[in-house]
Formats: sequence, structure tokens, C-alpha cells
Amino acid sequence: MLEFEEALARVLAAAPQPTSESVSLNKAAGRVLTAPIRSPIDLPIFDNSSMDGYAVRAIDVSSATPASPVGLRVAGKVAAGQVFPAEVSSGSCVRLFTGSLLPPGTDAVVLTQAQPGENVRLRGEDLRQGSQLADAGQALSAGRIGLLAAAGLARVQVGRRPLVGLLATGSELMEPGRPLEPGRIYESNSPALTPLIERAGAIPQTFPFVVDELAGTSLALAEALNQCDAIVTSGGVSVGEMDFLKRAFEQIGGSIEFWKVAIKPGRPFAFGRFGDKLLFGLPGNPVSALVTFLLLVRPALLRWQGATDVSLPTHPGVLAEPLSNQGGRRHFVRVNVDAAGKVHSTGIQASHMLCSLAAANGLVDVPADSTLPAGSAVTVLRWEY
Ligand code: AMP
Ligand code: MG
Repeated sequence: MLEFEEALARVLAAAPQPTSESVSLNKAAGRVLTAPIRSPIDLPIFDNSSMDGYAVRAIDVSSATPASPVGLRVAGKVAAGQVFPAEVSSGSCVRLFTGSLLPPGTDAVVLTQAQPGENVRLRGEDLRQGSQLADAGQALSAGRIGLLAAAGLARVQVGRRPLVGLLATGSELMEPGRPLEPGRIYESNSPALTPLIERAGAIPQTFPFVVDELAGTSLALAEALNQCDAIVTSGGVSVGEMDFLKRAFEQIGGSIEFWKVAIKPGRPFAFGRFGDKLLFGLPGNPVSALVTFLLLVRPALLRWQGATDVSLPTHPGVLAEPLSNQGGRRHFVRVNVDAAGKVHSTGIQASHMLCSLAAANGLVDVPADSTLPAGSAVTVLRWEY
């Protein structure tokens, strides 16, 4: 049985190098840059007014006071987007608006008295041409997309999104929305994993359920591997006589790289390779499937796109109640952390309990055979906000 860090390192090492594609900026949110970006321009791109007023030579009005004002001739008007055609001579001023280009010869914008630079947004004060706008490996945020657009970029180079096939295995499974037959249950892993795959930047593709039988499982795996870059299965990965996943994968020529990780929930996690395609065999229990996806699959999907930071966002918190782990494996306990950082367990932690999963927005890593007392400072691994 592998320790968690060892399993994570092996999964990350197996993620293929990102392949780069060009996408338009308005489709780039959350995508991962494969090359750094330098600014082709200064920002602001020209000296401009920060308010409605008059562009002046500051020296012309430096002696002006309310008691002895200086009179200036209004030589014209420049709306935002326009250009004043001539040098402004001493003794003149030009009517300007927020964002108007400063006419040549002027260096301040006034309503009353002025210092040079007053109410002027100077060229390049935000950003210099040639300076770095973004780095390779960075996922694009809304703010950074705004910066790139302001610098005039229409497209960026980002890692291609892997296509991830989702296969739920289990003869008991039925699609939600249909009347249940005796002994059967609704399939809930694919619907829960679909948004997590999307949020990891990959493209989910759901395949028909796989019944617990060797030949059918092999066929389903082969078909999904043919169409996708990676497959995420759930169920059938333990040692029982009805668990066919690993056998089927090996039968079609895949190799299981490791099986079993020393974590709770999710011990029977299996990882395999089929050429440069990857198999993530998640346990069937819904909590185990979701938690192992977050801990071991999400990082690999992000690394595949070239992301530098592949860990879940963390959040400091303080336990409102003790969290105890009587088992010999570290336990990723489902918790809810509020805005003040108070951390509550979401309830019974058995791996078939969906209500405690639905109420959770994070996990706390509780070491084997230990209790974290109420009041402990903990790091919450966040996956919902
Ligand atoms: P398995 O890993 O196949 O032994 O499944 C463990 C438990 O999870 C069993 O109770 C299954 O019925 C349940 N389970 C397996 N797959 C799913 C699924 N896709 N949706 C909901 N429950 C599942
Ligand atoms: Mg099963």
C-alpha cells in the first residue's frame, strides 16, 4: 500500500507534457498558460486625464490663487478617443474629459490650481511595454484576462484540455429519473465527478454504465480508451470476485501502476497506464470516489495542462469540535468551514454517507490513530465555495 505523497508523485509524473493550443481570450478563463506573456505596450498607453477638467501647462497656473486667478484661453476640446492636433501654447488650455489624451505641451489637468502631473494618468505607470503580464503554468483569472485584453491581446497559448471518459461500473446502477428496480440504486458518481472534471479544466465524457462482468468491462474500457485521453472509472476495483476493473484493464493491454493508497476514504484507488493514456480507477463508494478524485486525479489533470500549482486551495481554520481518527490510515475528514474559519465536521464519515458529503466544502487531514482537539488550528483543503 502506497503512502499518499508517493501515490501523488507517481500520478503527477505520469501526466503527459501539456500540448499547447491557441484560444481566444474570451474562452480563456481558468485555462493554463503554456508560455509567459510580455506586454506589447505600456499601460496606460498614453498620458491621459483622470477627470473632466482643463489641460494646462502647470507652470502657467503655478502662481494662481483664488484671490488672484490666472486667465487662460480655451484653445479647444478633446473628448475621450480624440487627438488634439497641435502643441498647446503658453497661456492656453484645452477642455478634457476622463481618459482624454493630454494634448502636446500640457502636463496637468485642473479645475482650479495645478502641479505638474496633477490629475494625469501617466503613460506606463501601470505597466511598461515588455514587462511580464503572466507566466507559463498560471491559470487565467478574470482580472488577468482583463489585463491581457487591455494590453491588446486577443488570443493566448494554453494547455490542451484532456478528454476524460467517465465509466461507472456496477450491475446495480440505474440512471436517476427512472423508477428503481429491486436491489438497484441510482448512479451518483458520474454526476458528482462531472463538475469536478470541468473545474479541473478537463472535458468530461460520460459512457454507459458497465455491468460486473469481465468481457463487458474489457470492451467498455477499450472503447473509452480509444476515444479519450484518460478514463476515470468508479467501482469494481476491490478484491471481490465481482470486481473486474483491474483484470479487464490488464486483459486489454493496460498496466496497473499501483493499487491501494494509505488513505481513508479511498484505499482501493487504482492507477494504470495504457500507452500515454491514463486510468484512474476510483472506488465505488460515492465519498471515496469524490475524495480520491480531488486528491489524486485533479492534480494530474491540471499538470497535464501545464499547471504549476496543482494542490487544492487551502484555508486556515480552527476546529469547533474534536476530529478523531481511530484508524491506521490518515483520514481526510469532510468538514464545513465558515467565513470566520470555524471548522465543523459534516457528520457521520462512513464512505457511503452522501449527506455529509453534500454539506462539506473542505477536507481536514487527520493523522492515523490521533485526535485533533477542539480549538486546534487546521488547514482546510477547500473544494467548494
Ligand atoms: P464497489 O467499489 O464497486 O465495490 O462499490 C462500493 C459501493 O459503492 C457499493 O455499495 C456500490 O453499490 C456503490 N457504488 C458503486 N458505484 C456507484 C455509483 N456509480 N453510484 C453510486 N453508488 C455506487
Ligand atoms: Mg461494484
